[in-house]
Amino acid sequence: MPRAEALIDEIRACRVCAGALPAGPRPVVQFGPASRLVIIGQAPGSRVHESGVPWQDDSGNRLREWTGIGSAAFYDPAMVALVPMGFCYPGKGRSGDLPPRPECAPLWHDRVLATLKDRRLTLLVGGHAQSYYLKTRSLTDTVRDFRAHGAGFFPLPHPSWRSGIWMKRNPWFERDVVPALRDAVRRALGGDRT
Ligand code: SF4
Repeated sequence: MPRAEALIDEIRACRVCAGALPAGPRPVVQFGPASRLVIIGQAPGSRVHESGVPWQDDSGNRLREWTGIGSAAFYDPAMVALVPMGFCYPGKGRSGDLPPRPECAPLWHDRVLATLKDRRLTLLVGGHAQSYYLKTRSLTDTVRDFRAHGAGFFPLPHPSWRSGIWMKRNPWFERDVVPALRDAVRRALGGDRT
């Protein structure tokens, strides 16, 4: 069995933090050895936990709009890897979903990324991915300085409904960041394949 497939099977069998997951483990990931674009988000929400399809919700629609990636390319592991900070739905807190389980990224991310030899660009979607990979604190500053993080990483806000309020306060995002993002994604995926 190829390495990526064997790793996906291993992840699907993971029960490491089962005791802390109110809906039980259901890791939702997508990747293949040829994935060029990696999207590191937060954790599945309840809808994605039910369907098992990553980013199949309003946040996913908004992310596809920002990036300019059509659904066919988005769900093709030969092009796009979807690797959240927590692979399972963490449950609800007082103000929305709980954060991704802290055990998950240290346990799996290095092994997943090591299988992606064609990785060209990694989108860090939301503060959890940014503080883990860039060690930054302010999401707004990190996104505003998107060019400062090297060609390999591109930070974004999480595209939840709250991002609409954030975008109104930060109009430079749609004006400057979204066009640069689409360009970077198009180049990572190889021109007109989006
Ligand atoms: S969240 Fe991650 S570490 Fe926890 S059970 Fe799911 S796959 Fe395993």
